[in-house]
Parts: sequence; structure tokens; C-alpha cells
Amino acid sequence: MSAKIAINGYGTIGKRVANAVTLQKDMEIIGVTKTRPTYEAWEALRNGFKLFTPAERVPVLEEAGLEVSGTQEELIEEADLVVDCTPGKFGAQMAELYRSKGTKAIYQGGEKHGTAGVSFNAYTCYEQAIGQDHVRVVSCNTTGLARSLYPLHKEGLVRNVLATMIRRSADPGDSKRGPINAIEPSLKVPSHHGPDVLTVIPDIHINTVAVKVPTTIMHMHANAVYLTRDVTPEEVISLWEPYRRLMLIDGFKGMGSTAQVMEMARDLNRPFSDLYEIAIWRDGVHVDHGVLYFFQAVHQESDVIPENVDCIRAMLQIQNDPQTSIDMTDRTMGIWR
Ligand code: NAD
Repeated sequence: MSAKIAINGYGTIGKRVANAVTLQKDMEIIGVTKTRPTYEAWEALRNGFKLFTPAERVPVLEEAGLEVSGTQEELIEEADLVVDCTPGKFGAQMAELYRSKGTKAIYQGGEKHGTAGVSFNAYTCYEQAIGQDHVRVVSCNTTGLARSLYPLHKEGLVRNVLATMIRRSADPGDSKRGPINAIEPSLKVPSHHGPDVLTVIPDIHINTVAVKVPTTIMHMHANAVYLTRDVTPEEVISLWEPYRRLMLIDGFKGMGSTAQVMEMARDLNRPFSDLYEIAIWRDGVHVDHGVLYFFQAVHQESDVIPENVDCIRAMLQIQNDPQTSIDMTDRTMGIWR
């Protein structure tokens, strides 16, 4: 029997999680919610998902010509688990509803760790989500850092990390946010990303600084890892290679920018042209005086999607073995080599 999953908030993340869940044999989407009659509501119906909305919004969606199957409350009550994909900070407000219905909930990285009390990354801490009722999948940037640092940390190589986050200012479909012609530093140091990594790798030393730049397609991280012992770039690369959710790319093969990385992603013919893997430039890995330097690029809209699928399996105890779940997710989503 497949698990009944609801998506609350069919936007950038919600539509991708919905699509990824439909690829799995052990879970199914029983409905998605929209509050406004935007094109995504029609897309949801066209993709075969039942549409739900808060009770007071039913007339608005129906007047726009959309077929509404019921209220948000009814959907949440019927689901085994709801994946909250509402805009940042909304999830914390929705938590009361999920708890009152006794429905398990996954929150996204726009929520604070405290909203769920448990944070998730499949490589670093799958086990801590097993059987839990409320879990947060960490943000796109935190997922990126956790994935690339974990293999190094597991090997005892990391003394301290300084990660410089060069952040996209808005998602491609978002024309309201900026800056459009400025570089905007986060004057709070460390930026929230460093402390957030500790929610999924508690015993790592990390500091992060962040700047926003006028681009929409990816984040870039310029990382310095202060090492506990000397290693060669080749050794570091060999530690990353077994992890499919990291993709080692070569700048010299015409992939010298995030634009080219996302062009390569389009060639993979995946839904939404997504790149679930964190792209690390192999030819940008450098070790000097006990410090490892590397660059990685994060497709912010999609790296967390396989994490949501694994988190569902852990929370519902469909699969208690992390690697088995990761393999199932990777196979079905085409993250396979
Ligand atoms: P989004 O704005 O693209 O989508 C949110 C959706 O929720 C919209 O369809 C909106 O209509 C709907 N919505 C708003 N209020 C609602 C309510 N009360 N009930 C039900 N639906 C409601 O947002 P997003 O980018 O998908 O972000 C969702 C979450 O994922 C946030 O926590 C965000 O921080 C996190 N996240 C976003 C990204 C990214 O790059 N977009 C990456 C990782 C994590």
C-alpha cells in the first residue's frame, strides 16, 4: 500500500516534490493546495493532481473555473503526511493545523529548525527522522554544504570551514525580488547558513558569509576547508566520487559558469530542467598550506527534492535504511551513474 502524501503549497518546491513523489512506488499524491487561481493551479489539474484550498478560498478558485476537490483541512486530515511547501515562515503558522489533525509534516528550509525540532539531510542524518512526526528539510544552501562537507568530515579531515555563499537574488519566475543591479552583503556574520549546517552535522566547525548577486539560476559557494592533515586534490575528489548527489564537473569542458552548468542540466531532459546534484568544479579543487579550496554550484529550486522523498520514507518508516531509500530515490529521479 502506498503512503498518502499531500502537498500544501504547489509552488516552486511543491510542484517538484509532487512530481518526484509520483515517480515512487511506495507513495502517492492524494492532493495539492493552491490559495490563488494562478496558472500553477491549472498545471496541477493538468498533471492529474486533485486541487484543494482553504475553505474561504473555495469560491475564488471555483469562480475562476478550477475544479476544487475539497478543503485544505480535509486534505490534511486524509493524508499520512503533508509536505509543507508554503512560503518561508508560513509553515510555522500551518504547524498548528497539522498537529491538530495528527498528520505528520515536513517543513522546508524557510522555516526555523525549532518549527519541527528535527532537521534532515539524507547523507548526514537520515536516522534522526525515522518515525518522527515533524521534520524540516534544510534549505538549498545548507543541503549543498552538508552534502559536500559530509564526506570530508566523516574522514576526519575538517578542522574548520569558511564558506562564502554567493546567492542568487530571486528564483527565475520571481520578478519582484532583487537586487537587479547591486551586490548585497549579509552584514550578519556568520550568515544563517553556518549555524543551520549544525542542525544536520552537529560536530562540525563552520562559518559562513553571504552576498546576494543579480542572478536567478544558481547559488555558488566558494569554500575554504582548514584541514587536519595534508591531502591532495585527487584524494578529496575520490572521497566525493561515491556520492551521487554530488556531480564533479570540468570547467575546461566548457562549464566555466553557472549558465553553462544549467545549460548542461537542460540537456539531461529532466522535469523542470532540474539539477538535483551539487556541482563541484573538479579543476577548481586546490590545496595549499593545509587549506582545501573548492567551488560548488547549487540549483536552488531542486537540490532539496530528493531529500524530501527520503524524508517521507524515514518519517513513515517505509524504509529505515538510508542507503536503500537514497538508491530508490536516485534511480527513479535519474540521479544514477
Ligand atoms: P513559492 O512562493 O514558489 O510557493 C509557495 C506556494 O504556496 C505558492 O503556490 C503559494 O500560492 C502557496 N501558498 C501561499 N500561502 C499558502 C497557504 N496559506 N496555504 C497553502 N498554500 C499557500 O515558494 P517556494 O520557493 O516553493 O518556497 C517554499 C518553501 O521552500 C520555503 O520555505 C522556502 O524557503 C523553501 N525553499 C525554497 C527554495 C527555492 O529556491 N525556491 C529552495 C529550498 C527551499
